[in-house]
Amino acid sequence: MTKTVPHWIGGKPVEGTSDRWGPVTDPATGEVVTRVAFASADEVDAAVTAARDAYATWGVSSLAQRTAVLFRFRALLDAHRDEIAALITAEHGKVHSDALGEVARGLEIVELACGITTQLKGELSTQVSNRVDVASIRQPVGVVAGITPFNFPAMVPMWMFPLAIACGNTFVLKPSEKDPSPSVRLAELLAEAGLPDGVFNVVQGDRDAVEGLLAHPGVDAVSFVGSTPVARYVHTTATAHGKRVQALGGAKNHMLVLPDADLDAAADAAVSAAYGSAGERCMAVSAVVAVGATGDALVEKIRERAEKIKVGPGADPASEMGPLITAEHRDRVASYVTGAAEDGCEVVLDGIGLTVEGYENGHWMGLSLLDKVPTTARAYRDEIFGPVLCVLRAETYEEGVALVNASPYGNGSAIFTRDGGAARRFQLEVEAGMVGVNVPIPVPVGYHSFGGWKDSLFGDHHVYGTDGIRFYTRGKVVTTRWPDPSETPVGIDLGFPRNH
Ligand code: NAD
Repeated sequence: MTKTVPHWIGGKPVEGTSDRWGPVTDPATGEVVTRVAFASADEVDAAVTAARDAYATWGVSSLAQRTAVLFRFRALLDAHRDEIAALITAEHGKVHSDALGEVARGLEIVELACGITTQLKGELSTQVSNRVDVASIRQPVGVVAGITPFNFPAMVPMWMFPLAIACGNTFVLKPSEKDPSPSVRLAELLAEAGLPDGVFNVVQGDRDAVEGLLAHPGVDAVSFVGSTPVARYVHTTATAHGKRVQALGGAKNHMLVLPDADLDAAADAAVSAAYGSAGERCMAVSAVVAVGATGDALVEKIRERAEKIKVGPGADPASEMGPLITAEHRDRVASYVTGAAEDGCEVVLDGIGLTVEGYENGHWMGLSLLDKVPTTARAYRDEIFGPVLCVLRAETYEEGVALVNASPYGNGSAIFTRDGGAARRFQLEVEAGMVGVNVPIPVPVGYHSFGGWKDSLFGDHHVYGTDGIRFYTRGKVVTTRWPDPSETPVGIDLGFPRNH
């Protein structure tokens, strides 16, 4: 073990003092490569205090000061794309090209934050009554805590902090303990970009650090992304402590394929969206609903393609799919395939037991495909978060949509068809926050917001885009009367103010 991953508090790295640590493993080799400090209550408090102190000046800093930092940060991030992607691959395991995509999508939100000047323009109505003007302005919330999952260790934090700090807030990030290094590198780049000390802090840790943030009186708002049970818990707990909360949860994303769809395009999309990043994406397609008689042909096309995907270490440019995050998670994913036949599924591809030469201890799992999956099967009911695709069959469009809408999750959903009328109906009828028409992973661009429905999001606001800016600001309406110097005072009037 060569190094430990520190916290980042008040503008500098801080070694952990709690004596609690977690191992950080290279998923391709199974070796523990470093360890990460788990914050104590005192360390959480130190980070929140640093953020609170910094808020006193950052909260009133000019938009020009804030955007100058963000533009410099954008340039640094751009210059270090490759290095950050390599850090992601080393601890998460995803292939380098996929990690580069993650950095690019995070950069998109930094670019949005660089343009905060136009997004934060208020509204003004003049002469709403005699010599009375009304302005609506938005001000920062204060200290924001961000709690993020393992599957996008750079992008998901960047869904949050660029906009939060652009809006004048200060930030405490609690990244996943499984791949904590990218967050510290982002903190270093923010410091290099000139961000004042304390505006961005990182506390490493597990559940204890999260509990500390949720209950801390110095935290005003919480942005959470992770699994549904934890999202629900974070929302309940943090709102009970009087904080505003957006908590994004897990998913089971469906792709409805109508009989008139281009089956080759649909099969390509299903394979890319189901197995990319080894299925460890909240927008992964994990259930394909084949409508009508084309199901057999579609499954065959998916199988042919999936069999050719090269699984290997993320740092090897020849690899298309990397390992899973931990051995425990790999075993859990495998258990869904093991139990599939008993649950009534047809196992078309079984990826259990895959090994990669030279990397025998990696967390490998090959691509798995289950067909004719009943809705009662465990593999369908649970979010697997691995390279397992379930195919379900439906007779009609209506039956397919009903099936999609019966899911407790509502993150993303896609339809593949050549029929514009059916696609339009689907957009309106499907119960999901993000919809793709012939687009399997409809992750919105930075200036639209990302978020699901039902058990995929707790709270009112989606992340980034317009919703992100609203979440990180509080509205204020200012009503102003400037009497003309020639006017006589209005005098006392106990009636409720009316506009004349
Ligand atoms: P997770 O819920 O286990 O962990 C998320 C964060 O919460 C981590 O920082 C973790 O340390 C912390 N945490 C874990 N258990 C906790 C507990 N009991 N109490 C308090 N904090 C706790 O999620 P994960 O395994 O890191 O990430 C995968 C999950 O995240 C999947 O369910 C995936 O769908 C979801 N996800 C959702 C989105 C989205 O936008 N909706 C995006 C990415 C990932």
